[in-house]
Amino acid sequence: MKYIFVTGGVVSSLGKGLAAASLGTLLEHRGLKVILQKFDPYLNIDPGTMNPFEHGEVYVLDDGAETDLDLGHYERFTSTNLSKLNNLTSGRVYEAVLKKERSGTYLGSTVQVIPHVTNEIKDRIRRVAKEMTADIIITEIGGTVGDIEGLPFLEAIRQFGQEVGPENVLFIHTTLIIYMRAAGELKTKPTQQSIAKLREIGISPGIILARTEVSLDQDIKDKISLFCNVPPDAVVEAIDTKHSIYEVPLKLHEERLDDLVCKLLQLETKQPDLTRWRQFVNRVISPTHHMRIAVVGKYIELQDAYKSIYEAFVHAGASNDVKVEIVRVDAELIEKKGAELYLAGMQGVLVPGGFGMRGTEGKIAAVKYAREKGIPFFGICLGMQIAVIEFARNVCGLADANSTEFNKTTPHPVISLLEEQKQVTQKGGSMRLGSWVTDIQTGTRAYDVYQSVTITERHRHRYEFNSAFKTEMENHGLVISGSSPDGMLAEIVELNDHPFFLACQFHPEFLSKPNHPHPIFFGFVKAALQNHLQAASAEL
Ligand code: GLN
Repeated sequence: MKYIFVTGGVVSSLGKGLAAASLGTLLEHRGLKVILQKFDPYLNIDPGTMNPFEHGEVYVLDDGAETDLDLGHYERFTSTNLSKLNNLTSGRVYEAVLKKERSGTYLGSTVQVIPHVTNEIKDRIRRVAKEMTADIIITEIGGTVGDIEGLPFLEAIRQFGQEVGPENVLFIHTTLIIYMRAAGELKTKPTQQSIAKLREIGISPGIILARTEVSLDQDIKDKISLFCNVPPDAVVEAIDTKHSIYEVPLKLHEERLDDLVCKLLQLETKQPDLTRWRQFVNRVISPTHHMRIAVVGKYIELQDAYKSIYEAFVHAGASNDVKVEIVRVDAELIEKKGAELYLAGMQGVLVPGGFGMRGTEGKIAAVKYAREKGIPFFGICLGMQIAVIEFARNVCGLADANSTEFNKTTPHPVISLLEEQKQVTQKGGSMRLGSWVTDIQTGTRAYDVYQSVTITERHRHRYEFNSAFKTEMENHGLVISGSSPDGMLAEIVELNDHPFFLACQFHPEFLSKPNHPHPIFFGFVKAALQNHLQAASAEL
């Protein structure tokens, strides 16, 4: 087993996660079995309780783990299926250490960061190595070198490197080479300083991955090499990609990153065949068609809040030969100014997941607009609950129908708390989470997109469609096309007599991959494109 540790310096948001994921892609294409994981220095047990504004999307795994969004990159860029073992926070480490302390594991000793906390971190790496078969484990350390809270992780990986020996471990440091536009010059000093910080801790990186907006010439590479104590060919340029994050593996391959990694870790492999990846990237970059899909949500300003949804559109767009331009619409603006202003001219409308009351009336107005105007609509999780509320109010005539999440005393609680959630008081890891099976009705749009009567999708919710309203809604034309196997929970709803109107209680965006777009995203984009092309030819 070989181990790669990816650290970051100079600034945060360097794209370490993407770099780690892209290296994973390259190594996998060389025939190696790769596992990726992330260590996060913050004290939350996991990011599940954090606001998307704080942390971006919470990415959910099959086993229900609520994780950092970088795990989404890992799963999209490689074929690994990750589990709760693959995201470790300081909070989780300290929790384990303190439990052991109370149960007497360390009886008699003073419990300290070194060795108790660092041992706990190293044990986790060993557990992953033991429980998940792989040739290589790539571990990304969150945060920036120099952060106080990251120190125990860095110390732990230093010790780990000593224990497994230099031929089995590689430290890759990702840094920013600053481009001073006014002077037209590249600056390497912050990189030198961040490497010096790493070396103070006892870690000497084998590769420096230099993030840059302009190409690095040999002089700059030589300078970094000299000051940072690596050979010049170990300074690898990671230039900003022009069009798509999926270009990153191709760029890094051109820079011979995977060759270098294999050389340093003494791995004999074939050269990677990146043809299919390249074809996908070409389809992303130069599609024939173009269309606009509105995403009506609450966390719209933040690029990362609906990360997996945006990526799923890239995958589905590439497969349909169309560029899907995402138009982010703040649901509260629809509340103030009406849906027409924001949604007229859109080829599709998506309402994503979310929590809390704010913006919900705007989302309801968006669904009404899409339903009445025949604009393809796709609702995810809260988006399905909103679609049900809209249908209850405006089609079934159930005035003030609502979810009990937003109005506890609504006369028509069409969305209500899941039975099993009624006793839950703890926050974090306590929703209906992870993979659950859904049975699909034949002859429905859901069956049409999936071509299967059973599917498995990832969930993250507390509320559900209230089955007391099932018959009434069905009588008015709502089709429940997917249900839990016991028939108790509605998982997919849809409408006939509409170009595409489908909403699901689960999160399909977590299962979409570059060359395997998710069936619902694929079907939605396809329907929206057909609708768009028909409307365009009718106008001619
Ligand atoms: N707030 C809703 C619930 O808890 C929807 C959750 C979501 O969209 N992820 O059920």
